Amino acid sequence: VFRIPLERADTEPVVFDERIELDAERLAEDVVTVGPVAVKGTIERSGEGYVLSAEVAGSGQLRCARCLEPFDVTFREAVCVKLQSVAQAPCEEEMRLGREDLDVAFYAAPELDLAAIATEQLQLAVPMKPLCREACQGLCPHCGANRNTTRCGCADEEVDDRWTSLAEWRPGR
Ligand SMILES: [Zn+2]
Ligand SMILES: [Zn+2]
Repeated sequence: VFRIPLERADTEPVVFDERIELDAERLAEDVVTVGPVAVKGTIERSGEGYVLSAEVAGSGQLRCARCLEPFDVTFREAVCVKLQSVAQAPCEEEMRLGREDLDVAFYAAPELDLAAIATEQLQLAVPMKPLCREACQGLCPHCGANRNTTRCGCADEEVDDRWTSLAEWRPGR
């Protein structure tokens, strides 16, 4: 459904603006939910290939790497890439010469897959270690309580000096 035959862009630029539902579970481990992803832009003929210029935007929930709670996020990624047929892949020499140009992507099938573009951009937008906030306190390593919301009272590994005597006083430590 969200595939645009590239030949449609041979005569004039093709403008697209779609809303695509993606399966959160198949995107990335930390993605809990994702709303419809808006993919809009243009694809137009350029020399031997095509130039794709698009914006991928949406919102969803990621799981915090520290406290494991889901939190809301929005994302907006811009993609601008030159598409070239695999059959026309240039030799290394030409690759180097064209380097200062746009990024080049090679396609095997002569069509633009908007769902694949949305998936790729969304995966790029997910940080390595998503955090609900910079100062997230994470989970207590002893009892597993969420330290953002709970004061579990467990002694910390790095105990403030003033509390050392108190910590030592606890039975079993
Ligand atoms: Zn967190
Ligand atoms: Zn605790």
